Amino acid sequence: MVKRLILTGAPGSGKGTWSKILSDTFSLPHISSGDLFRKELADDSPLGQQVRSYVEQGALVPDELTIKLVEKTLAEGPGQNGFILDGFPRTIAQALALDGILAATGVKLDAVIALDVDEAILVERALSRMICRGCGQPYNTSVTRPNQEGVCDRCGGEVVRRSDDTQETLQRRLLLYHEQTKPLADYYRDQGILVKLENNGPPDQTVQQELFQMLESTCSGA
Ligand code: AMP
Repeated sequence: MVKRLILTGAPGSGKGTWSKILSDTFSLPHISSGDLFRKELADDSPLGQQVRSYVEQGALVPDELTIKLVEKTLAEGPGQNGFILDGFPRTIAQALALDGILAATGVKLDAVIALDVDEAILVERALSRMICRGCGQPYNTSVTRPNQEGVCDRCGGEVVRRSDDTQETLQRRLLLYHEQTKPLADYYRDQGILVKLENNGPPDQTVQQELFQMLESTCSGA
């Protein structure tokens, strides 16, 4: 049974959208490191104040702070019995730390889904994206608008544009993705748990079937 999944990919690759689909399908909590940081920023907590400039400028929050926040969330929150982890790890140091955290509780990752998207599509998606401040549900300004302008269909929260989805910030985030996050694919391929999904189109039934089949064979070790 699928219990512990990671979604990795560039900004705009569809991690949030697929996390919601997988979270609904497998009844697992969706834990997004970006959402965790945005919540700290909205609360203006001490951690929020510490990380604000990194998040707003599209830089990576230092590993130490990020690992601590995710570790706390996994230990205290609903993630104890499984999770869909979205946007974490983003560096090899974070991946090593996560392996250690999971090993300490005697559990393992089932699969890591790497979303592969053409660069032009990434930019277009990220620049038209909107997000619910409440539950993190992704929308965009064209096809998937909420039914009522500015109001989330799932939780009634406020749907807004992300302040870090600007042309300039996006270029920095893409660069960091190539430098720091993309190498994670090799790290997880070596562990035999990498699932690559080409995600240039919408997440329709055909693509969902393709992904579920790949997950099944990876998780059964086939
Ligand atoms: P996301 O919603 O995943 O695009 O994340 C938004 C921002 O939060 C990123 O641009 C980073 O500033 C920060 N962030 C989220 N996850 C991580 C992570 N695993 N490591 C470092 N910074 C992160």
